Amino acid sequence: MRVLGIETSCDETGVALFDTEQGLLSDALHSQVAMHAEYGGVVPELASRDHTRRLLPLIQRVLDEAGIRRQGLDAIAYTAGPGLVGALMVGASTAHGMARALDLPVLGVHHMEGHLLAPMLEDNPPAFPFVALLVSGGHTQLVEVSGIGQYRLLGESVDDAAGEAFDKAAKMLDLDYPGGPAVARLAAAGDPQRWRFPRPMTDRPGLDFSFSGLKTHTLTTIRQLDQQDALDEQARADVARAFEEAVADTLAIKCRRALDATGLSRLVVAGGVSANQRLRERLERETAKRGAEVFYPRGRFCTDNGAMIAYAGAQRLLAGERDVIGRMQAVPRWPLEQLRQP
Ligand code: ATP
Ligand code: MG
Ligand code: FE
Repeated sequence: MRVLGIETSCDETGVALFDTEQGLLSDALHSQVAMHAEYGGVVPELASRDHTRRLLPLIQRVLDEAGIRRQGLDAIAYTAGPGLVGALMVGASTAHGMARALDLPVLGVHHMEGHLLAPMLEDNPPAFPFVALLVSGGHTQLVEVSGIGQYRLLGESVDDAAGEAFDKAAKMLDLDYPGGPAVARLAAAGDPQRWRFPRPMTDRPGLDFSFSGLKTHTLTTIRQLDQQDALDEQARADVARAFEEAVADTLAIKCRRALDATGLSRLVVAGGVSANQRLRERLERETAKRGAEVFYPRGRFCTDNGAMIAYAGAQRLLAGERDVIGRMQAVPRWPLEQLRQP
């Protein structure tokens, strides 16, 4: 079965073609990062308009690259939520329109289920069950995954998401949006010994996260340096490094606890922050120590993409799930635990 996947939940237009026998056939992405950069964050109305402009040409490109005509498709999957409602509606209405015209089944996919299953597109995919750490721009969650749609929330952030914390730290350091990669680049030149930033909520049991205290600590440090006229390039790099170490360490401590609590030995890390090299090194050490294994998506499938939506949609379509014809879904808030086994 050949499934076209469409992702438009935020600021990337992603399209991909997944074949349940042959795997991923093609994928393409248009990122709106440059467009939103001058505003320092995503402007919802601009996002929707840009998805409208980019989506059809991107679909054509993916079909051309795979050498497949529209008539060769078997189903269409799109991101139904969570996300920006106007942006979601562009993907949802396009998917439903195409499905109607081509007389195909169509299915709305949960964006975080897409992220969570993205490592399944790699050569050595994780087997169920596993613990998933979802770390993206809007989510920081630990989930026990027993199978597709079988998700038990173990813990989550009580305030900012990890990606959001990176983006805010970047702003404090006058770095460009999106902040994650920029902070990581600056941190590479930083001295890890200069400061030890707080590891929030690691001093008590539990699997929840909090990043607002770390954010305040980062801001206070920057202000003090600035007042002392000591905020030079090295100091900025040292702050970035101390911040990155604190996030990576906090996430690793909670992952270790989640593996302990569930007795599982496979860890999946997905979402934009899973691209972070320091976090990967830290998690590799943590899992190696206990004979566990860690799995990630390839770099470009850590952030939003069409491939993860095509894959997640294909699994559910194979199980017989589909939208009612003419009833597109665009759900801005949608907890992952509400999903069911197909
Ligand atoms: P959600 O998936 O929760 O709806 P989103 O789709 O906006 O949110 P993603 O596209 O998965 O999030 O990830 C984007 C986030 O990942 C941004 O906050 C960005 O700063 C962060 N990020 C990307 N690369 C890195 C990196 N190398 N290090 C740290 N953070 C990163
Ligand atoms: Mg994005
Ligand atoms: Fe995302």
